[in-house]
Amino acid sequence: MSPTETVPDLMHGMTTEEICDITRKHNYGTWRYQKAWKPIQMVDAQDSHIIDGNGKRYLDFSSQLMCMNLGHKNAAVIESIAAQARELPYAMPGYATATRAELSKLLLEVLPSALTKFFFATSGTEANEAAFKIARMYTGKSKIIARYRSYHGSTTGSIAATGDPRRWAMEPGGKGPGIIFSPEVNCYRCPIKHTYPQCGIACADYLEHMIRNESDVAAVIVEPIVGTNGVLVPPDEYFPTLRKICDDNNVLMIVDEVMTGWGRTGKWFAVDHWGIQPDILVTAKGITSAYVPLGLTATTQKIADFFVDHFFAHGHTYEAHPMTLAPAVATIHEMQRLNLVDRAAELGPYIEAKLQDLKLRHPSIGDIRGKGLFWALDLVKNRDTKEPFNTYADKVAGIPSLVDQIAGKMMADGVTCQAWVSHFVIAPPLIITKEEIDLGIAVLDKHLHLADEK
Ligand code: PLP
Repeated sequence: MSPTETVPDLMHGMTTEEICDITRKHNYGTWRYQKAWKPIQMVDAQDSHIIDGNGKRYLDFSSQLMCMNLGHKNAAVIESIAAQARELPYAMPGYATATRAELSKLLLEVLPSALTKFFFATSGTEANEAAFKIARMYTGKSKIIARYRSYHGSTTGSIAATGDPRRWAMEPGGKGPGIIFSPEVNCYRCPIKHTYPQCGIACADYLEHMIRNESDVAAVIVEPIVGTNGVLVPPDEYFPTLRKICDDNNVLMIVDEVMTGWGRTGKWFAVDHWGIQPDILVTAKGITSAYVPLGLTATTQKIADFFVDHFFAHGHTYEAHPMTLAPAVATIHEMQRLNLVDRAAELGPYIEAKLQDLKLRHPSIGDIRGKGLFWALDLVKNRDTKEPFNTYADKVAGIPSLVDQIAGKMMADGVTCQAWVSHFVIAPPLIITKEEIDLGIAVLDKHLHLADEK
């Protein structure tokens, strides 16, 4: 079926213009000033492409919101949703279902082995909220240490733990009780002005210093590789060191793998790169390749055992919703069948070489960072000063950024790519071909002169 043939089915008797107009007038455009929202209508998608209301195809170079790891319209996932709807669309979370049992068995296969007990919510945000509550109930302590340049979600607790400007709109008071921030791990622009490896990962020492000088710390929450805020990959010794710090100080380690999980970095989970067993792992997005909303909070057996004799004071109507779990089962089977974790690992060096080549030719590229199919291209005014073209403050003030401008040009050339502050996050579906990678890079290449000439 051609893209244009599918359009009438989705139009509900309206034109594209009417659909966009109603959307803008009657829906909230999130994380933006409403006046700056000019949505375009999407009507169809296949594999690594998404198609708009005019039949124009776009290469999806960031898997939408770094979430469609399997790509668009995977037949097995679609069928799993239909089959679950035909069989049992909903059952209260207190009941057992075969779908939940099957997913639990699969999770035991793919998650870090210490994680054996699961809570299912419907977003990464909710899964983080559950993690905070579990950590606080289990430890009897209240403080959570998060890091700057992090994102953990949009509701009260998770936005309070977010170390980027999306939290600022909640100030004053948005910090929420019991959240404190430590400096991010950022070897390109170290916030404590050290240089790796001479620094001896002083950022980890600093975090331990914080724990020891605070009382009442329940947990540390970290994105193993920071996502939206720049694909910040920690040095190899960071996670083993953090694990030891948490153990030595009797503090839980929560890893937020909402973006980094599900093969994105070339392992099932990013912590697998360092052989780390977290106490709590939070994930969402790729768990269903975003076909339906699902979040997961996974804990160790030790934490699970605590709740045998303690009230588990948490839950939702839509928790463990069968319609969300069935596609997670299908997603894992598809990832295994298509060997996508290995594929992401294999394509990592390919995309890295392409980005390195871009860096040779574009002085505006300050840094490239990443693993597997998860990369950032960091644009700077000057490689020596590393000054970015735009800042967080610009973002909050609604000042259009240079990377947004370049992303707009790329979109016109048929490639969608996530731009944030002064970098791009390149995270295509794990099924992407080398030819498609070449095309996405070529379109980036074409428009980077806009930054080079600034
Ligand atoms: N944690 C991380 C690391 C994320 O990247 C996100 C979303 O981008 C979230 C949490 C929030 O997840 P959700 O948007 O599903 O609520």
